Formats: sequence, C-alpha cells, structure tokens
Amino acid sequence: MAFSTKTRKILVALLITGWSLALIYYFFQLPAIKHSLKTKQLYYNNRLLMGTFWQVSSPNKQAATIVFSEASRIEQLLSKYIATSEISQLNRLGKLKVSPDTFYIIKKSIEFHDKTFKAFDITVGPLIDLWGFTTQEFQVPTDDKIRDTLKLVGSDKIILHGNDNVVEFKIPGMKIDLGAIAKGYALDCAVKKLKEHGINNCLINAGGQVYALGDKFGKNWKIAIQGRNKLEIIGALELKDKSASTSGNYEQFFLKGGRLYCHIIDPRTGYPANNQITSATVITDKGITADALSTAIFVLDKDSQKQLIKEFPETQIKIY
Ligand code: FAD
Ligand code: MG
Repeated sequence: MAFSTKTRKILVALLITGWSLALIYYFFQLPAIKHSLKTKQLYYNNRLLMGTFWQVSSPNKQAATIVFSEASRIEQLLSKYIATSEISQLNRLGKLKVSPDTFYIIKKSIEFHDKTFKAFDITVGPLIDLWGFTTQEFQVPTDDKIRDTLKLVGSDKIILHGNDNVVEFKIPGMKIDLGAIAKGYALDCAVKKLKEHGINNCLINAGGQVYALGDKFGKNWKIAIQGRNKLEIIGALELKDKSASTSGNYEQFFLKGGRLYCHIIDPRTGYPANNQITSATVITDKGITADALSTAIFVLDKDSQKQLIKEFPETQIKIY
C-alpha cells in the first residue's frame, strides 16, 4: 500500500503520540497497579516465643516485628522458665515489687480465680512441678504428697500491695505459674501496639491461642480448631476483633497405667483435670479472658461450666 509523504508524516506522528500516551499512562498508573497487587498480599512470619510457635499474618509488613517485640517483652517479665523474670524472682523471694504489667496480670488472675469457682488458679505452680510438667519428668505423686503440696496452693494466699505494686506470698514455697493466662495477655498487648502503629488487620496465632484483629480483605479471619490428631479439624471459626483460646488434654500429657494425665490441674484436688472432654474453646474480645476461661472451663464439671457461661454472657464457648 502506498501512502503520500503527508499521510506518512501524520501516521508517524499518531504512532509517536500513541506510544507516548501509553507510556505516560503506564508510569502514572504503576503505583496504583503495584498497590492493587499488594492489597491482596499477606505477610507471614513465625517465631518461637513462650515455648510455643507464634505466627503473624497481616497485609502490613511491620506487623510481625511489632507483635514479636511485644510478646518477647512480656515473656521476659512473666516466664517462669527465665531465671531473671519478675515471676521467677517472686517465686524465689516470696515478695517483690513488680512492674505495672506483672501487677496487673496477677490482679486479673485473682479475679478470674474468684469468678471461676477456684478452677483457675495461678498458684498451681508447685503442683505443676510435682507432676513433672515443668521439667517433662512425669510422675504420679502419692496422695500424701499431693495433700502437702495443696497447702501451697490458693490465690487467696497472695497479698497485693496496690500502692507500691508489691506482691507477697502468705506461705513460703508458693509459686505462681502464668502458663494459662500470659499468652492471652501478650496478645492483648501486641494488639494494642499494632493499633498504636495504625495497623488494624492482623491474625496472630500463639500456639493455638488466636487474636483476629480487623479482617482479611473485608472478610472475617477463618480459624480451624485442631483435634487430638494434629491433622484432624474438629471445628471452624470466623473471627473479627476477637480472641479464641483452646485448652485441651492432647498436647501436653503423659500416660501411666492406662490413664491419661494432662497438664491442666484441678487446683481444688491437686489432680489433673479429668472431666471427659477433649478441649474447651472460648471466644471473646480480650485475649486474657479467653485464655483464663478456656483453662477454667476445662477444669469444671458440666453444671459449673453452665454457671460460668452465664457469668460471661459476652463469650462464646465450644466444648468438644
Ligand atoms: P492453657 O490451658 O492456657 O494453660 C495450661 C497451663 O497453665 C499449664 O501448662 C500450667 O502451666 C498452668 N495451669 C494448669 N492448670 C491450671 C489451672 N487450673 N489454673 C491456672 N493455670 C493452670 N514452655 C516451655 O516448655 N518452655 C518455655 O520456655 C516456656 N516459656 C513460657 C513463657 C511464658 C510467658 C508462658 C506463658 C508459657 C511458657 N511456656 C513454656 C509454657 C507453654 O507455652 C505452655 O504449654 C502453655 O503456657 C500452656 O498453654 P496452653 O494454651 O496449652 O494451655
Ligand atoms: Mg489458658
């Protein structure tokens, strides 16, 4: 096909203009294109903290660093496995001036003790040691030994001096174990820090205890409840701005004489909880409440469970 010189010039001009417009459009749109790709992207991060696996999923890259740093700060204060923690020092000395965080969690723990018919009790420390759950050197103690150890147990034997944050034990040898509540508290602290940084969407899984902050691209976060067999899913939850905590007898236990002894102890008897359930899941706004109540529900019999549920109408409870 033959074109006149004038037509050729017009065609070349149109081509150049077309390409220029396409390039301008591409460069101006690039950030938006990149952004739209990113909006559906989650960053996943894992860390071993508090003797368990923490996983953080968020569209915000900074979320994991904030969560891990806050959880690590709480672990340094509250872990009985860290000799320099405030809890280890208190357990050794029997009296200690503690940080506001430590004072707060002990105060809340005593409140949960009072509200759970004494099923939740952070002074179970000596019993956890006696049954071998702290060192993994398991044993079934004699009834006499359990009776003796029970003398050291009871949250009513903790004295709180509110004016100067001093915690004191009434009986020498008492020990606090925050294993059933500190992960929940750490989740709440992490969520508070995330919000302070303007991060409002994040899923944190601290070894089965979860906090679902905000949503996942407009939809609730979906959570599976694991069964006795790690591959078995016994329930599913959809969460938004809620914490879910599961306490069960299938992760930490030992078998002796055909019986299963689990790490959750009934502080009223000194024996591992044994009420024929596999797990209890509590869903509520605060991690600290979900954590404490799931442990308490696991200890209580059916009638007391029902009464406790009435006391906390804002919580959802699933028993398997
Ligand atoms: P939950 O039901 O929430 O708690 C059960 C735990 O609470 C028991 O293991 C016992 O410690 C305590 N408990 C038992 N009965 C009662 C009761 N009736 N009332 C109140 N408390 C009770 N584990 C390690 O092996 N190494 C570590 O370094 C380590 N560091 C930790 C640091 C911190 C700050 C915390 C909180 C825990 C740590 N753990 C560590 C413990 C480990 O993560 C536990 O397995 C976990 O705390 C148990 O939680 P859970 O959600 O399975 O059960
Ligand atoms: Mg708990």
